[in-house]
Amino acid sequence: MFESGCFPMSEKRPFVTKAQLEAIVQQYPTPFHLYDEKGIRENARRLREAFAWNPGFKEFFAVKATPTPAILKLLREEGCGADCSSLTELMLADRCGFRGGEIMFSSNDTPAEEFRLAARLGATINLDDFTHIDFLKDTIGFIPETISCRYNPGGTFSIGAGGEGFQVMDNPGEAKYGFTRAQLTEGFQKLKAMGAKRFGLHAFLASNTLSNAYYPTLAGILFRTAVELQAETGCHIAFINLSGGVGIPYRPEQSANDILAIGEGVRKRYEEILVPAGMGDVAICAELGRFMLGPYGCLVTRATHFKHTYKEYVGVDACAANLMRPAMYGAYHHITVMGKEDAPCDHRYDVTGALCENNDKFAVDRMLPQIDLGDLLVIHDTGAHGYSMGYNYNGRLRSAEVLLRSDGSTQLIRRAETPDDYFATMIF
Ligand SMILES: *Cc1c(COP(=O)(O)O)cnc(C)c1O
Repeated sequence: MFESGCFPMSEKRPFVTKAQLEAIVQQYPTPFHLYDEKGIRENARRLREAFAWNPGFKEFFAVKATPTPAILKLLREEGCGADCSSLTELMLADRCGFRGGEIMFSSNDTPAEEFRLAARLGATINLDDFTHIDFLKDTIGFIPETISCRYNPGGTFSIGAGGEGFQVMDNPGEAKYGFTRAQLTEGFQKLKAMGAKRFGLHAFLASNTLSNAYYPTLAGILFRTAVELQAETGCHIAFINLSGGVGIPYRPEQSANDILAIGEGVRKRYEEILVPAGMGDVAICAELGRFMLGPYGCLVTRATHFKHTYKEYVGVDACAANLMRPAMYGAYHHITVMGKEDAPCDHRYDVTGALCENNDKFAVDRMLPQIDLGDLLVIHDTGAHGYSMGYNYNGRLRSAEVLLRSDGSTQLIRRAETPDDYFATMIF
């Protein structure tokens, strides 16, 4: 078995040219993550267009995917809010200018201080569990007028074809998140009695779905549940949060989701289920991470070593500390050898980093053009859950992040770590 690096029908090209990249690496040494401002903005605008039928629509970008100030500010300019799940993510959103209702706080196993900060910032709190109702009240002293609950319908969840085979939450009954159906009814009643006035309903059932059916299917479940809850409890359901999970085509043979078709699919369910129930004022929210940023970032690295043993290895100057997904999930990330886009993929390589872990490989048995020492490699689709999952194992340092501006210029948006950063927390 080997992975095909060059798929015949592939149009998977980097968003930079070789000439552009050669100029960029003069200024910023490899490895670094590079982001595409134009792609990010255009995609964010397509999402807004897809949900323009819903006047209250708002995307709360999942900060964990790319917690980088320049990226968050850029998304805020495109009308996005921020979805946070920890104390530091809340602090980051605040420092990037997100205010009050622009911040969604969707966490689980939540420490008290995080609820305190979320309440102080006026964020919308999305409760993960029934017991968090009393915990929140005891922690901040009141129940906010606007409150949301996360639903876990249990059982298994299927949307048919598509996906990458590691849909981490396609089995909600096994997932730690959310209220049961019965707990939602009880929870809404309890929250209402404690002063809540505007309710939200949230669920996140599958990750990285490559199907235009995921959001509409989830919307159908949530819309029906919202109609029931409103009838049972009399609570005013103001928004329904479809959360994350819309995927991207990591592999060249996969095709991208059509966000306009997804928005239209959700609209149909809305018209069928919510409007007849007199709930045509419900706002739709999203907390997309991967879909917003994944394809608009790449990891730029250079071939530094070749090793010929039982296999052919190309050593590069990036490692799993810069991009953990291949090591962690066996995830596929497409690789382009810059300047050899049209060369035949007639060499089989393992592309490795320097960690003392045998899974520190960006590709295994990947067919690629012949690689020469110093070649620049672009590892695709690292814009979400890429830099942010980085770590310091083996004393490896996190890389810089660079923004390719819409006008073609570049901007350093995060400097690379230095040994001083590594030693900063150590006590000698
Ligand atoms: C991770 C996460 C998201 C974003 O998921 P993507 O797959 O990147 O779209 C959204 N909401 C919550 C609560 C999450 O934990």
